[in-house]
Amino acid sequence: MRKADYLIIGQGIAGTMLSWFLLQAGKSVVVIDDAKPNSASRVAAGIINPVSGRRFEPAWMYDTIYPFAKNTYLQLSALLQVPVFTERQLWTVFPSAQMRDAFLHKTTGNDYTELPAALKYEAFLDQPFGAAIVHGATVNLPSLLPAYRQYLKDREALQETHFDVNVLEITPTGIIYEDIQADKLIFCDGVATTALPFFERVKFLPNKGEVLLIKVPGLETMDIIKKGITLVPQDHGVFWAGSSFVWDYEDDHPTVQQREVLEQRLSQLLMVPYEVVGHLSAVRPSGNDRRPIVGFHPDYPAIGIFNGLGTKGCSLAPFMAAHFKDVLVSNAPLMPEIALQRYF
Ligand SMILES: Cc1cc2nc3c(=O)[nH]c(=O)nc-3n(C[C@H](O)[C@H](O)[C@H](O)COP(=O)(O)OP(=O)(O)OC[C@H]3O[C@@H](n4cnc5c(N)ncnc54)[C@H](O)[C@@H]3O)c2cc1C
Repeated sequence: MRKADYLIIGQGIAGTMLSWFLLQAGKSVVVIDDAKPNSASRVAAGIINPVSGRRFEPAWMYDTIYPFAKNTYLQLSALLQVPVFTERQLWTVFPSAQMRDAFLHKTTGNDYTELPAALKYEAFLDQPFGAAIVHGATVNLPSLLPAYRQYLKDREALQETHFDVNVLEITPTGIIYEDIQADKLIFCDGVATTALPFFERVKFLPNKGEVLLIKVPGLETMDIIKKGITLVPQDHGVFWAGSSFVWDYEDDHPTVQQREVLEQRLSQLLMVPYEVVGHLSAVRPSGNDRRPIVGFHPDYPAIGIFNGLGTKGCSLAPFMAAHFKDVLVSNAPLMPEIALQRYF
């Protein structure tokens, strides 16, 4: 029987960060991940944006979580020898005069935004109401996740298989899963967690996002471009163009309807032809109050959850995982806003 302090299900950004901080704290960890190709972390663009949504509200806890996330990603980049973190400007095109006024009203005086001295991308973008610069970043998930997976494999801390909850045995001192005996099991399994018997009382509000991968001849930039749809530069001249939000969906596959929605938004942004080279989709694991969902089941103290990262996995995961580690290792009090307990 193999013994571990923690068995973690899932190696998206949640399981990556939680296992990383637990290993750093000297704990033994086994991660089980089935490498679902269209998990949220494998489809996301990895944008970190200091302002949220159409109302341009400052993102929750941004001044705390952003420097922490940046530091964590830079450390992992140095350790794993892959590019992980890039600070970028978000070229935010105003769709209307009202939106420009709302932006100026909400963001004047903060450090994250500025008005450009001159318009850029005039040959490519339809921007009659102008644009603003928002200072954000991207996390390179397609390089971070496999590199960290290899790091776990090298330590014999990763099992590439599907976790079957029916095989789980809860004992008086922890759990047994096949040949693994652990003190605690923590579900970092994204939207799959909604099907588990343990978290039926949690008010999940998962939503599906679809994305096109496009090429725009002549458009070369490091900036993120945003107006109803967001373009994020990738390798080889490809842009990630997304994403939609759908709460009522049949499955997690790409649809003709959402492709039309995305293409319509592209036509409102781009004044030049483009070529679609890919179409992706995934479901965001969100709770009804848009806060992370963290803690242990009141009736099964060995069963935990680290989830609910919603639209902001890349900015929230490092700080929240480190905080959960402090709760686990040093008995720190769990932030009530994110406690699983709020649903019980
Ligand atoms: C289209 C789209 C765009 C997005 N863009 C951004 C963005 O720009 N910036 C941002 O911060 N966030 C973005 N998000 C949100 C972000 O993707 C999520 O917040 C984040 O990825 C959630 O990570 P997670 O680790 O909780 O879940 P997931 O990424 O879903 O990871 C769960 C993992 O668990 C594994 N798993 C599940 N069940 C099992 C099982 N039974 N056995 C074994 N393994 C299992 C899966 O294979 C997967 O690897 C976006 C999401 C979508 C869908």
